[in-house]
Amino acid sequence: MTREKLLAANWKLNLPAEGIGAYCSAMRGRPNAGFDLVLAPPAPFLELLVRESKEAGEGFAVGAQNSSQHDSGAFTGEVSARMIAGLGARYAIVGHSERRTIFGENDEAVGLKLAKASDAGLVPIFCVGESQETRDAGNTLDWLHRQVTTAMAVAARSFPRLVVAYEPIWAIGTGRNAKNPEIREAHQAIAGLVAPLVPADCRLSILYGGSVKADNAAEIASLEEVDGFLVGGASLVSSSFLAIWGAMRG
Ligand code: PEP
Repeated sequence: MTREKLLAANWKLNLPAEGIGAYCSAMRGRPNAGFDLVLAPPAPFLELLVRESKEAGEGFAVGAQNSSQHDSGAFTGEVSARMIAGLGARYAIVGHSERRTIFGENDEAVGLKLAKASDAGLVPIFCVGESQETRDAGNTLDWLHRQVTTAMAVAARSFPRLVVAYEPIWAIGTGRNAKNPEIREAHQAIAGLVAPLVPADCRLSILYGGSVKADNAAEIASLEEVDGFLVGGASLVSSSFLAIWGAMRG
């Protein structure tokens, strides 16, 4: 297993106020930092972002925020992993806590989505993380154990490349990022859980997500357990997202 850095933007159901064209222009011309920078827009904008990425000389990659556990059929509103890959996207966020809590995705559904994303050749950004209640009850590590092992068992795939995002729910969009010891403990646990479930030559990234901003990114990025970030709010303005990229680049 080798570890690889990665930085990903999750725009959720938002677009950058500066406009997609201006945002993507700002992403152009960065020096090669040796790791992928991924933009995950709302689904109707995937194709545009792929075009922008080609114009940027592949200066960034494109990811979907969700992909279906089904390939085709009577599943109104769904978009399959193969369709997403066909547009030229390379990543898919799977199991984001908003999908789990608002749209009722359970670990089994997340596992099926991991499988379909992998079969389509997409790199899954597999999100896990506990609620405040779970943390307060001292059950964080058990929670992560269940989320990781159940979904990976359902997926039953051999992942040559896998991204796991540790995103404590209480830190998402709250301005209250997890503290370094909390992040280190969770990332160590995730690395230990994933290791026996992936091939020896798997390229693994373990990202932290939850209120990452330009002013806390450098400190968190300096933790050896942290390979990068999944960023929501602060990814909506190109300058703050690039500041996070700069903090990771060191
Ligand atoms: C997220 O939703 O994936 C996220 C990390 O959001 P924020 O950065 O806004 O906390």
